[in-house]
Amino acid sequence: MRVAAIIVAGGRGERAGADGPKQFLDLGDGRTMLDLTVHAFLSCAQVDEVVVAVPPGFADRVPATARLQVVEGGARRQDSMVNAFARVSAEADIVLVHDAARPFVSQTIILATVAAAAQYGAAIAALPVRDTVKRTARTGTSRTIRDTLPRDEIVLAQTPQGFRRDILSHALAAARDQDVTDEAMLVERAGIPVHVVEGDPANVKITTPEDVAMARRRIGGAGSMPVRIGTGYDLHRLAPGRPLILAGVRIPFETGLHGHSDADLVCHAVTDALLGAAALGDIGLMFPDTDPKWKDANSLELLRVAADEIRSAGWTVSNVDVTVIAERPKLRPHVAAMRTNLARVLGVDVTAVSVKGKTNETVDAIGRGEAMACHAVALLRGDTA
Ligand code: MG
Repeated sequence: MRVAAIIVAGGRGERAGADGPKQFLDLGDGRTMLDLTVHAFLSCAQVDEVVVAVPPGFADRVPATARLQVVEGGARRQDSMVNAFARVSAEADIVLVHDAARPFVSQTIILATVAAAAQYGAAIAALPVRDTVKRTARTGTSRTIRDTLPRDEIVLAQTPQGFRRDILSHALAAARDQDVTDEAMLVERAGIPVHVVEGDPANVKITTPEDVAMARRRIGGAGSMPVRIGTGYDLHRLAPGRPLILAGVRIPFETGLHGHSDADLVCHAVTDALLGAAALGDIGLMFPDTDPKWKDANSLELLRVAADEIRSAGWTVSNVDVTVIAERPKLRPHVAAMRTNLARVLGVDVTAVSVKGKTNETVDAIGRGEAMACHAVALLRGDTA
């Protein structure tokens, strides 16, 4: 059995917000949507030949190979189909048709469509509907529901769609003057039953700028949603007559942390982790201790200012993890309050903030109770893809 695949890439795709046709948009790693789609079919052992229909003037954008031909499409989808079908070899038994805008088609779907087309003559990949389906009626600008359709009978058509060569040939010839949105419609109108095979939710049609962003994230290339990690560290000496404030929580203890501000080293380490991840400098640069404005400053507020800076630079805090190293006092009873404070000023859920206490086993200055230290890491994600 010989199988040909036609990839319909004739559309101008303005809805995706691209400068040119969306199928030629770089998805972030140098590959275009069309590259991925063509690759999916060329890498399928069952597919013997591929014909791509591109918009007029774009034929040189796809290098032809022994198994890949390129033709210019027409104004309507079926015009492109006719041009491409003319290049399918006469020996092909099954012709698959696939949208260039569905680059995430799986080998499973391609093979299932080939098998069903061979068995039934015509087959398409389609998705069952999970939502309740309503038919509506418009009156002016308002829209009301007319009735509820039986969900079990509804499917959402995808591609590939596969046909015996003679069936597709007949349907294309019979429907030259009709506008259709897929090839199954032509075959249906010719009165030939079209079999449905299970589609794949991942086999989405890239249509809007949001779809393009999703595709880039999925590809994981340079244009995908960026992720940044940063670390922060701080150490303060313990001194009598000072309050002990950690993550904004006042902890009863015989000594407190010495420093220009409230010496809240948890907030300082987290602030540095955030600024480090965003490459926005450090806490000393943002809040210089030579500035009297920051004397005895509430470090939780400083952290809030830094978090606002991060946000305005286009970053969102994914999570923060903190380790406080202190010989005494026991921090566990205060961890919940510390997490709550940090989560509040960072604008994240408390589950995204972790605080852990650690002793230094009586070793060195921290172990002797002369100082406390804190390590923090923060993960940021880019707001925009
Ligand atoms: Mg500090």
